Amino acid sequence: MDTYQQRSDDLSAEPPIQCEACRTALFVGGQTRDALSFLLVDELTVPLVGCDEHVEQFAATCGLTTRGSADLLQHRPAGGIQCPSCRLAVRNPTQPMIPVADGAVVVPACPEHQADTVDRFQIGLQTRHQLTTTLNASRPG
Ligand SMILES: [Zn+2]
Ligand SMILES: [Zn+2]
Repeated sequence: MDTYQQRSDDLSAEPPIQCEACRTALFVGGQTRDALSFLLVDELTVPLVGCDEHVEQFAATCGLTTRGSADLLQHRPAGGIQCPSCRLAVRNPTQPMIPVADGAVVVPACPEHQADTVDRFQIGLQTRHQLTTTLNASRPG
């Protein structure tokens, strides 16, 4: 047996983004600070880049993972970004894109908080999937 495996984690392949507004935000507006939104969830304050619709969807999905609220600001929060590494990361243009439905958002945060945020998003997606499945499954018959 050969242990060779076809690896599909080719990070250089960018996911196709159907949403034109996201593409504009990511590739054009993403270079300006005006395109930043800020997600406030629990202790996290993370910047997000994407179109309004998909940034909101991302934030709402993250909000499923907290009992508190997930707030989305279209402006820099009063306290600013707490984490100094996140503040630097905002200026780093090579951040991975996270697919959101037919769009994508970028989380220009430090690796730690980026992972935190992406984790929340994944858990939120699962939570929403379970909610949907439960609703469907609860139908008699
Ligand atoms: Zn979009
Ligand atoms: Zn950080």
